[in-house]
Amino acid sequence: MTNIIKLPGLIDTHVHLREPGNTHKEDFETGTKAAIAGGYTIIIDMPNNPNPITNPEALEEKIKLAEGRVYSDLGFHFGGAESAVPFFQEVKDKVFGLKVYMNHTTGPLLIEDNDELDLIFSNWPKDKVLMVHAEQETLTKAITLAKKHKNKLHVCHVARRIELELIMKAKEEGMSITCEVGMHHLYLTEDDVKRLGHYGMMRPPLASQEDVDFLWSNINSIDTIASDHAPHTKEEKEAETIVNGVPGLETSLPLLLQAVNDERITMNRVIEMTSTNPRKIFNIPEQADTYVEVDMDEEWTISNENLYTKCGWTPFNGMKIKGKIIKTVLRGQTVYENDKITEPASGKATYPTHS
Ligand SMILES: [Zn+2]
Repeated sequence: MTNIIKLPGLIDTHVHLREPGNTHKEDFETGTKAAIAGGYTIIIDMPNNPNPITNPEALEEKIKLAEGRVYSDLGFHFGGAESAVPFFQEVKDKVFGLKVYMNHTTGPLLIEDNDELDLIFSNWPKDKVLMVHAEQETLTKAITLAKKHKNKLHVCHVARRIELELIMKAKEEGMSITCEVGMHHLYLTEDDVKRLGHYGMMRPPLASQEDVDFLWSNINSIDTIASDHAPHTKEEKEAETIVNGVPGLETSLPLLLQAVNDERITMNRVIEMTSTNPRKIFNIPEQADTYVEVDMDEEWTISNENLYTKCGWTPFNGMKIKGKIIKTVLRGQTVYENDKITEPASGKATYPTHS
């Protein structure tokens, strides 16, 4: 028996493909292969490369590097920094959003200085998304700044009850605010760190069961699902010094299918969070004849052995899943079927429809 459902190609507005600068972890080819294997037909790359994407030259270099090598469509975000402010008008039509790092994470883009933050929030175009990495108390600061400057704020990877409560309150007040959640923050808790060791380390860190339960019971207040695909090699994860981040492109949709089978979320809500909402929030162009087929009844086990991501591991290794991606179709062409990439790279660079 099969129970095949057709979904629109998924959109992931938060991935780290690590090129240029860290191609031993991932690159445009392996990262976008992982995308189509995971049902994603558009992904948007974050700017926190070792040489961050905070000027037009770095952005153009990244776009050029990706040309002809991507299996899904690929878009780009710009990096928030004082030095980036003079370029905002020049790059705004080429990027989907500005990413501002207000807490420590991978890369050199952290900003804690209030004047610098004020300058960035006030200058970024008001009709374009301003994304923040802002955990707990820092989120209060981000919301205050965005209210002051009337930004279109998008809160990345909500992980704790306190964060979602702040966002729900701001929404009630009529603020322009949206947020995303990663599947690791819906399926893992701080207790899993004992089992996973450094493989369970990411930013924001895994939270309590109470936090996870709160996210699930308020899933309708969260706008999008993002993988926050952030690969590091096994050697790096097993080293003494912690590197934060986990891959997610190939496991997010399977975990969502499991959640639909478990009746924790409806398929309509999955489509809203992975396609309708990200498209609307970020002005992402339509892709003609592009879809994913899933078999809701097929049972299988997530394995480190069957991944396209260069890092070759997942925190969900060994997890049994009901619901499997059968096929990904990009512009009428089957690009992934029965666990295999079936066509050469046919993805394109993608840009916002209007802003
Ligand atoms: Zn991230």
